Amino acid sequence: MVSSIPVPPKVRNFIWRACTNSLATRVNLYARGSASSPLCPLCHQTAESVEHLIFLCPYAATTWFGSRLGFSPNANGFESLWLCLQYLQKMANHPDQMELRLAYLLSWYIWKARNKAVFEHIDPEPEKTFKRAQNEVEELCSITVPQRHSLAMPQTIH
Ligand SMILES: [Zn+2]
Repeated sequence: MVSSIPVPPKVRNFIWRACTNSLATRVNLYARGSASSPLCPLCHQTAESVEHLIFLCPYAATTWFGSRLGFSPNANGFESLWLCLQYLQKMANHPDQMELRLAYLLSWYIWKARNKAVFEHIDPEPEKTFKRAQNEVEELCSITVPQRHSLAMPQTIH
């Protein structure tokens, strides 16, 4: 499923790493002895698993809920990114997979903002995050969805 969604390769690659639990989350780093604590560096309330990082951390949950998906990871009880993506794929009714693309990009920008918070001490802002994701989805859709009138363009015009 991951390979068929039209998003930039770096985003697809990130989703793949998230679904296979190979992101450098605090839980994974702690298990390898590379972090002093498994606690989330943003909320300091609970262990930072992939699901916590992408969905359940208050910053991430606010981002999902504020986005056009209006999605509430807690209320819907999603425990894994994979299950969430499967759910969104079933719900997706837009022909160019707008919802799924947005879910991929929201995950990606949440990860990027989390890293900025950890490494550059820049506070993550849910509204900035979902707007960036939504803008990118709109750009991607306008590039990859063929315009009907362009098919009827006479060949003499270049
Ligand atoms: Zn957290």
